Amino acid sequence: QSLQDKLNGAFRTLKGKDRITDINVAATTKEVRRALVDADVNFKIAKDITDRIRETAMDRKILISVEPGQMFVKIVQEELTRLMGSNSESISIKGDPAVILIAGLQGSGKTTFSGKLAAMLKKQGKQVMLAACDIYRPAAIDQLKVLGEQIGVEVYAEPENKNAVAIAQQAIAYARQNGKKIVIVDTAGRLAVDEAMMQEVEDIKKALNPSEILFVVDSMTGQDAVNTAKTFNERLNFDGVVLTKLDGDSRGGAALSIRQVVEKPIKFISTGEKMEALDLFHPDRMASRILGMGDVISLVERAQQAFDEEEARRLNAKMRQNKFDFDDFLGQLQQIKKMGNVKDLIGMIPGMGAAIKNLDIDNSSFVPIEAMIQSMTKKERANPELIDSSRKKRIAQGSGKSITEVNNLLKQFDEMRKMMRKMNTMQAAGKLGKALK
Ligand code: GDP
Repeated sequence: QSLQDKLNGAFRTLKGKDRITDINVAATTKEVRRALVDADVNFKIAKDITDRIRETAMDRKILISVEPGQMFVKIVQEELTRLMGSNSESISIKGDPAVILIAGLQGSGKTTFSGKLAAMLKKQGKQVMLAACDIYRPAAIDQLKVLGEQIGVEVYAEPENKNAVAIAQQAIAYARQNGKKIVIVDTAGRLAVDEAMMQEVEDIKKALNPSEILFVVDSMTGQDAVNTAKTFNERLNFDGVVLTKLDGDSRGGAALSIRQVVEKPIKFISTGEKMEALDLFHPDRMASRILGMGDVISLVERAQQAFDEEEARRLNAKMRQNKFDFDDFLGQLQQIKKMGNVKDLIGMIPGMGAAIKNLDIDNSSFVPIEAMIQSMTKKERANPELIDSSRKKRIAQGSGKSITEVNNLLKQFDEMRKMMRKMNTMQAAGKLGKALK
């Protein structure tokens, strides 16, 4: 059970009570503590947190008029936020070129993150390059090359060279000659911390003098994540942590414990395999997320990145004129897919995380819809009214779907258009005008 579910359960015991008392605070803090420990927060840290929460809650006795459950949530949220560091921290980009060193265990998500960070910096207009220094896993070089191609970022690699320090130095020289301002160095990871790997990454650090060292850790590894973070920090004295795989069933506990144990900020979180699934770490949002309040702000930011404003305005105009057609719909589906995994997105909506936890939703749900739309002619897409039974048959055959499925799609699309029409009428009558402005 996730930390979020547990805490929701703990707060339930406070619901309906009109004041916070010694007794119900004691019972609830115990639940909170158990929830934190279950979510891999180190016991001592969990105890510190809950002791402080208890004190704060008791100090606020005066707030009897406020619903105690809500107040308690607020106290816990503030405390968790404070513990994870109150502000989101940026990375340091200094030097010519600036070097960002990426370290962590194999499978933690280093290579994927290196690609994501490169894509993010490129989007900000930076001249960025990737260096493949994982010489033990031959596939790692190819993986980085594929990612590089996908995001349009150059990857420096020397597949025959077995000296990671030398490759890294060549990469820097290459970057200097080719006007690259930032080099992201993806290093090797082993399955468990071992001396040779630590020595190598330490040597790379000495040789390159990076302005930023990021330690990547899989949030699903629980207490182990904390121990690994500790070991890496002792050797590398890294600047920040990247917490990966926060989609799916991974727990929030690692974020809390790592921050407490190594006293380094968490700078990024990764929530999926796609290049877009990278967010800056916001302690307050993470606390909200842990507490089941959803992560609407991240959702909105993700949407802003993926959606083209010009396109949105064009669509809005079409909707107003009742001209929204299947081509527009197809475009919308593609934009949603660009935002990342649909399940992750729904999970960011408050209250939805637990509800969809066990559901099998993924972007492939769009495939049959796209296939049917793609089997329509241009004319049909623009004027769905044209689609009679013989056309339906052709669309069904073309997309490998049944006529019933085609009918369902047409019906749903029609309902969507009716809804848009209704909103237009209401807006024209001034009812929605304010709300939609
Ligand atoms: P590396 O060995 O540290 O370089 O790890 P990779 O970048 O190759 O990642 C290992 C696996 O985890 C790959 O299958 C990735 O697609 C996957 N992965 C990486 N980051 C995430 C994430 O945030 N969420 C999920 N679900 N998978 C991830």
